[in-house]
Amino acid sequence: MPPSMNERILVVEDEAGIARILQLELEHEGYTVGVADDGRKGYEMASTGEWDLVLLDVMLPEMSGIEVLRLIRQAGNPVPIILLTARDTVPDKVSGFEHGANDYITKPFAMEELLARVRNILRIFQQYPKEAEGSDLIKLGDLSIELRSRKVYRKDVLIELTPREFELLVYLVENRNEEKSREDILSEVWGYDFIGETNLVDVYIRYLRQKLDKGYRHKLIHTVRGVGYMIKEPDA
Ligand code: CA
Repeated sequence: MPPSMNERILVVEDEAGIARILQLELEHEGYTVGVADDGRKGYEMASTGEWDLVLLDVMLPEMSGIEVLRLIRQAGNPVPIILLTARDTVPDKVSGFEHGANDYITKPFAMEELLARVRNILRIFQQYPKEAEGSDLIKLGDLSIELRSRKVYRKDVLIELTPREFELLVYLVENRNEEKSREDILSEVWGYDFIGETNLVDVYIRYLRQKLDKGYRHKLIHTVRGVGYMIKEPDA
């Protein structure tokens, strides 16, 4: 799916070479790109609300990427954010998700993978109309999903999901009562760079079951033998 011309991406990156390559590649894909070279400028630019996505480096002068992320979310700005983290900095990843990053990618990254993540996150967010009232909530049986705040409840119990678990759940719920193959799920939720890694789907389905179905009599997630998975309404 080619990106539409008006999708705007903010790159917050102090290393000029990386910022330049990202800008060129993203513009080549048809996005409009802005660049900020320190955390403070990044926060100011991100706060204008003009962006469809922010690529945010963690190690930045003036203000760290984590601090920028925290302030953006504190201000109630739901713009999707992909963190660029240094290799193996697990604490960065953890605090990134705690502060509301939607995804992260580890440096050094393959450009194709980064572009696939960008497309994936934009696609997921485009599914949520930004303004229409009442469109924020998806319900299925006793499951409620608030799309913009990314909160999930079963009955009244808040269920904490990682961004990927959330995206997997939304995909299955939006395609409720349809059998989905592991390959379909992979390409829709992870992006084409992950094709072949169907065991990822099994792993994440297991996580989701632990969080959503464990202890409930009515299971939402069903295994379709020889195919993949499906989410069903309790009485369907
Ligand atoms: Ca940096």
